[in-house]
Amino acid sequence: MNYEDVMNVAQRRGYLIKSAEAYPNTPAGFWDYGPLGVALKNRYVELWRRNLVKRDEMVEIDAAQIMPRAVFVASGHLSNFTDPIVVCGNCRSLYRPDKLIEERLGHPTPENLPDEKYDELLKENGIRCAKCKAELTGTKRFNMMFKLGIGPQGDEAYLRPETCQGIFADFPYLFKTQRLKLPKGFAQFGKSFRNEIAPRQGVLRVREIYQAEIEVCFDPENVSLPKFDVASGFELSISKGDVEPVPTKVSDAIAAGAIPNKLIGYYLYLIQSFYEDAVGLSKSDIRLRTLTDVEKAFYSKVAFDLEVRTSVGWLELVACNYRSDYDLKRHSEVSGTDYMVEDNGKKILPHIFELSMGVDRSLYVILEKAYRSEKDSKGGERVYLSLRPNVAPIQAGIFPLVSKDGLDAEAERLYNSLRMDYDLFYDESGSIGRRYARADEAGIPFCVTVDHDTMTKGEVTVRQRDDRSQEKVSKDKLGEWLKAHRL
Ligand SMILES: [Zn+2]
Repeated sequence: MNYEDVMNVAQRRGYLIKSAEAYPNTPAGFWDYGPLGVALKNRYVELWRRNLVKRDEMVEIDAAQIMPRAVFVASGHLSNFTDPIVVCGNCRSLYRPDKLIEERLGHPTPENLPDEKYDELLKENGIRCAKCKAELTGTKRFNMMFKLGIGPQGDEAYLRPETCQGIFADFPYLFKTQRLKLPKGFAQFGKSFRNEIAPRQGVLRVREIYQAEIEVCFDPENVSLPKFDVASGFELSISKGDVEPVPTKVSDAIAAGAIPNKLIGYYLYLIQSFYEDAVGLSKSDIRLRTLTDVEKAFYSKVAFDLEVRTSVGWLELVACNYRSDYDLKRHSEVSGTDYMVEDNGKKILPHIFELSMGVDRSLYVILEKAYRSEKDSKGGERVYLSLRPNVAPIQAGIFPLVSKDGLDAEAERLYNSLRMDYDLFYDESGSIGRRYARADEAGIPFCVTVDHDTMTKGEVTVRQRDDRSQEKVSKDKLGEWLKAHRL
């Protein structure tokens, strides 16, 4: 199984659609979610809400996607959210120098080296235009925010490159009106926009992304609350560099200085256990990679990338970042609004620990981990998605065995009686075997067939997707059966 196999099924079954596919020359890096993709995304976001936001009593907001220039002066995106580029002096082809160097040397090159260093490495390795072999210009910087003009005057604004700036902008208002106490998590799910240079990795590097971000505001002097103790015995999959993770108890990681305090240990436990328990990944397929000083932002005290083992290598799903008081200080300075809060009788500017999750990539990982391919009895290939019922977009297909003898009318009646309470799918076209195969590929856990027994004994046949076992269920009890098999 590889990336292409997973994407083929995802596109064939209506999970993902290339944006504006009907038009020629549509730019890369934009994807639409089809009917099953939307349902999968909704289920996933609900899991995130239940297991992180609700469990930790966080505050969720949904901020505007377009924000004024000043916000990105404060955040630093206007000056720092850039990628290096080089241009061919002859054919004007555009490249990222770090990617060119990476391809030539065969090992990763950091994306935040000084421009002169890239120029030096390009020269040293004799790297020229891949298309016409002409010389490349010196490294320049390209800001990856999408710029907009508001109103007829075109006041400078940007599509947000990350959702969290809305949280920081609203922070003083939220803290006061919601009468909050530290530590407090703020959450947001929504779209962010990044004008990536030449996105090539299909759905894994795109220009319009869904993020689910959590910003925990806290007093750095008060990080040992009793509620954090549930995490102390949990084994985090910590890795230092591009190596296999070593299971390390939260308490041991704190004692060894790998994690600065109990609060951060607790939130790393929350995010890793979310991927293990709610999403169903195994511990050995997850690692919390400690970022080096070169990789992390200058204001960051410690940072981990939660990565998952996939067919394209370790894939970053969540950036876990101790951002210190950088964000709130900058927004306070640039806006002129007082960001200090009163907590436990003293005025402080809170610190922030962030869990920034890429939702699209997480959904890709769910599809890849569910992908199964087996030889069938006739020498063909059976492909199915072994999605857990808690994320499967459709719980059951309802099929008449044949479209005659009143079986189709009975199946439709059953479907209509249950479809408002369960996520169901009705299908009567083609042989029953083909309908099973389509349902399996779409990741539908159960198929319910109305056959002659339904008419005489009032029983339907329920077939399980993964092992294809079958059982008889009374048609009047099908609702109860589905309810019991929902999670
Ligand atoms: Zn060229």
